[in-house]
Amino acid sequence: MEGIKLILLGPPGAGKGTIANMLRTERGTVALSTGDMLRDEVKNRTQSGRKAAEYMNAGKLVPDETVISILKNRIKEIPPNTGFVLDGFPRTTAQAEALEDIFRELGVSLDFVLNLEVPRDVVLQRLSGRRQCSGCGEIYHLKNMPSAREGICDKCGGALFQRDDDREDTVETRLAAYERQTAPLIEFYANRGILRAIKANVGPAETFNEVKKQTL
Ligand code: AMP
Repeated sequence: MEGIKLILLGPPGAGKGTIANMLRTERGTVALSTGDMLRDEVKNRTQSGRKAAEYMNAGKLVPDETVISILKNRIKEIPPNTGFVLDGFPRTTAQAEALEDIFRELGVSLDFVLNLEVPRDVVLQRLSGRRQCSGCGEIYHLKNMPSAREGICDKCGGALFQRDDDREDTVETRLAAYERQTAPLIEFYANRGILRAIKANVGPAETFNEVKKQTL
């Protein structure tokens, strides 16, 4: 799987971040999460961070130009022939088209787009109990994947936090944005022959096994 170039698709709570972190830990794949990048911009109170926060807190997608330019700068920094996984990008057809231009410019070709399939009730349960490490980005769940010590990351000892946009009122808006703006990408990539369906309604280890099988 070395050097493999992947996109993870799927609704919020499908497990994209968890699988991206597993690929990073176990395979050295560079994991790029536009959600994490935007949360950093917000934390550092940059100009784009301040603008993005309004959309993120409302559960809406941040405008394409902002996300595309942040992602483009990060992708350019990846050394040639190094594998990477995009988590949470693209999320609109305009972003997917911009990404094709970026890949063309950099001479990169995408191997697979993995669509993590999870039913809605599981998504809601996962989002309500999700916690993330403020230090290394590791993802936990209060019931399904608790840390050994409450509120503390097993990996780096950082403090765990609940994302503002995982609150119940925002989750509905995020799911609606997914259905309307992101789900059409399933067909976009199926048409390019690189889409693989992953049954992600199971634990992280089992989902990761499926990812390995599908990307051999
Ligand atoms: P995530 O961590 O991927 O769930 O992203 C959290 C939030 O960041 C989303 O609800 C959006 O507001 C914003 N965001 C992340 N990635 C994108 C993207 N590719 N396009 C637009 N907004 C994004």
